[in-house]
Amino acid sequence: IKIKITEIPIPVGFAAAFEGERVRKEDTFAEFGGSRTTAWELVKMREISEVEDHKIEIIGPDIDTLEPNGGRLPLAILVEVAGKNMQQDFEPVMERRIHYFANYTEGVMHLGQRDIIWIRISKSTYEAGFRLKHIGEVLYAKMLDEFGSIVDKVQVTIITDKDKVEKLLNEIAKPIYEARDARLAGLTDESVDTFYSCLLCQSFAPAHVCIVTPERLGLCGAVSWLDAKATKELNPAGPCQPIEKGECADEVKGSWPTVDKAVSELSHGATTKVNIYTIMEDPMTSCGCFECICGIMPEANGVIIVNREYSGITPLGMTFGELASTTGGGVQTPGFMGHGRHFITSKKFLYADGGLARVVWMPKELKEALKDKLQQRAKEMGIDNFYDMIADETVGTDPDTVVEFLTKVGHPALTMDPML
Ligand code: SF4
Ligand code: ZN
Repeated sequence: IKIKITEIPIPVGFAAAFEGERVRKEDTFAEFGGSRTTAWELVKMREISEVEDHKIEIIGPDIDTLEPNGGRLPLAILVEVAGKNMQQDFEPVMERRIHYFANYTEGVMHLGQRDIIWIRISKSTYEAGFRLKHIGEVLYAKMLDEFGSIVDKVQVTIITDKDKVEKLLNEIAKPIYEARDARLAGLTDESVDTFYSCLLCQSFAPAHVCIVTPERLGLCGAVSWLDAKATKELNPAGPCQPIEKGECADEVKGSWPTVDKAVSELSHGATTKVNIYTIMEDPMTSCGCFECICGIMPEANGVIIVNREYSGITPLGMTFGELASTTGGGVQTPGFMGHGRHFITSKKFLYADGGLARVVWMPKELKEALKDKLQQRAKEMGIDNFYDMIADETVGTDPDTVVEFLTKVGHPALTMDPML
């Protein structure tokens, strides 16, 4: 592969070709987030007078203060932008690009979004002289490069001071993440006449097409329907295109002829039919950056969900990574599907397959993180104490133990219509 080094002043290469590059544990010098340290990223719009163009500030220790073999630090990446045509709706769209810009940097790996990011910097990239300010240089250059039509000034603050990372997470970042979710909360798939496609992940999964609807966010968890809409506004010929819903062919499975047509065209014929509310028949394809995978557990007549952060084994006898390698890559895998964390508590999650009541097992961390929403959604479905009925790794990961637990608590999946 020919690597184009752009004019960004960093000591390593920068090219889309580095995107698929993984930084393995033994090659890692510095690590941030990944549920080991607090780490978050945010793009925030400011007044023109509030932003100093090309200011890159590091608050806290840089990576050369780590032990000779490297180590971990907390991290906050705050990108503040200003411009006449900038709108608040564009913030999450630009924020998602941090993922790509970081991954385009040689020896830098970026996963996740918001406050669940996970970043690694490789030993060789560190040895080449790469420091935190270079992340700032990359983001500065690329934000202006790609969003020059809306942004005139960009400043980047990178914080590794633990107290400050945590304080600003609670004071600035979380309220913004929550406000974004709230803006979406009132919207349903029925209340809009347009869905959006997203092709951003075709760079590594060439046949993958996400269909983004108000009640089903992109499987990366970073592209909501509002974000897709803003992406279209920002970049009319870009990765997100509207799909007029038109007539619905099946409201339960979530099938629209217009969606099928769009998927056919956009996947270059690789996928010709998609049902967006089921995993059993023509489910949506999965790229590689999904936050979670759900997969059928036949013994329990239900599904398990596993999130990327969980490294252990699941009751399906596979880890997240093993499931990801069979589910991802832009192909349809009935019975398995990548999806965003927030989709789990959407009314449209497995809508045609029995909904949330099918979920029999989840890692404890994911279950805890979604606790309130899980309980609320289950209540709407008329199930009390559903949270306590979902098994996790503390109950067990072996199918017999899980089924025994489900039987004991009277999990609804056991008496629902057979999945297979
Ligand atoms: Fe777009 Fe889907 Fe990739 Fe997210 S996972 S960036 S929604 S294609
Ligand atoms: Zn993806």
